[in-house]
Amino acid sequence: MAPRTEAERTYQREWHRKWRARNDENMDVVVGPPCRKCGSLKRMRNGQGKTRCAECHARKNREAYQANPALVLAKNRAWRERRRLIDRARGIVYRYTRHARTMYKNAQARARAQGVPFTITEADLVIPERCPVLGIVLRRGDRVTLPCSPSLDKIRPELGYVPGNVIVMSHLANTIKRDADSKTVRRVADWMEAQGL
Ligand SMILES: [Zn+2]
Repeated sequence: MAPRTEAERTYQREWHRKWRARNDENMDVVVGPPCRKCGSLKRMRNGQGKTRCAECHARKNREAYQANPALVLAKNRAWRERRRLIDRARGIVYRYTRHARTMYKNAQARARAQGVPFTITEADLVIPERCPVLGIVLRRGDRVTLPCSPSLDKIRPELGYVPGNVIVMSHLANTIKRDADSKTVRRVADWMEAQGL
């Protein structure tokens, strides 16, 4: 993220200063072949400056910018755009492959917003094969919530997300339950029956 305010800029400068302090020794570690330009064995940090030393790498970048600032800025912009797409794709993969984790993080955000306790760990969040209420197979929708989507329920809503008070059920069962008690749901069912539903 590019800094927007002076406070952000200060924070970022401080962060980089600390990072450099932590990694200073890595800068002087001699690994790989000598720099092609000056023969120095001082290498760049991991993954950078494959053929040049840190100083020559920085000088090359500086000279390229001085020769044609617009081109360098355009290249940087293109790289940021590519990076954004890569990050977005990674996010999608992450959300789909680590469903329990996503569910956990979403619940954590909800708990914070609602001001209810949140003391569960990811281990408390078990996604069963079938809904424990309706017996239907739990299956995630593709970017949409389905009746059979797994949904994290607080058994007693007022207690919040605490171990023993959470269970994964179908979205359908969870929306019928919400924070109603059994009497209320039964009355709704009775009314529906009277309507022939
Ligand atoms: Zn060099």
